[in-house]
Amino acid sequence: MSVELKPGASGLRARVEEVRRRVEASAARAGRDPREVRLVAVSKTHPSALVREAIAAGLSDFGENRVQEAEEKIVELKREAPAVRWHLVGHLQANKARRAARLFDLIHSVDSPSLVERLERVCEEDGSEGLDVLLQIDLAGEATKSGAGEEEMPALVESLKGCARVRCRGLMTLPPFFDDAELARPYFRRLRVLRDELRARGLFGDGAGALSMGMSHDFETAIEEGATLVRVGTAIFGARTSAA
Ligand SMILES: *Cc1c(COP(=O)(O)O)cnc(C)c1O
Repeated sequence: MSVELKPGASGLRARVEEVRRRVEASAARAGRDPREVRLVAVSKTHPSALVREAIAAGLSDFGENRVQEAEEKIVELKREAPAVRWHLVGHLQANKARRAARLFDLIHSVDSPSLVERLERVCEEDGSEGLDVLLQIDLAGEATKSGAGEEEMPALVESLKGCARVRCRGLMTLPPFFDDAELARPYFRRLRVLRDELRARGLFGDGAGALSMGMSHDFETAIEEGATLVRVGTAIFGARTSAA
């Protein structure tokens, strides 16, 4: 059965409002200015039409987790909405580094010195002035996940020192999934401590150092712990039909 939706009939606008309200409430609980928190709507698996609706509802930042899948969507929507910012939140393979550097405004998933070097090289070859990235840190030591372990951070920091174009803007983490978001809190707290240490060492230049943490089920806890970027998919777009 096919159902024709009227504009807004997907309920998206109401869900965006609700997420915004929750972002503000959690910022208020932590005594933070809600404008310090950027809502990245994770649009992976969803069609351009739905992203268009989200742009109409006032969203300006979108997250994708696969370069291949995102490319067509981004190229198409960039023509209509050039100010929209695109975030790569999924693992980046070295052989897609060039395309990712061209497509995305912020890559959240940099997790190895070789990827840092690769990105620097493709930016140089492309004559690109700069590329903003976050270091993805795997705080739970989950072998199946992407992200650098804490013990790998010194090598990552070292590799960034050799970069003229790749600019590290902060840290990202994806804690293990817990039904109770409270259990994710120590991971968010730890990422913030690591960010503070790197900031003191000047890794983020003049910037304060972003913290990309929190998804649909735990973004409120993440905001209480200092998140400046929350990556929210399901709570905005509804359930994804395909696995991603
Ligand atoms: C899919 C994804 C999200 C969004 O997840 P939801 O639970 O749908 O909010 C956030 N971050 C990353 C890295 C993702 O892959």
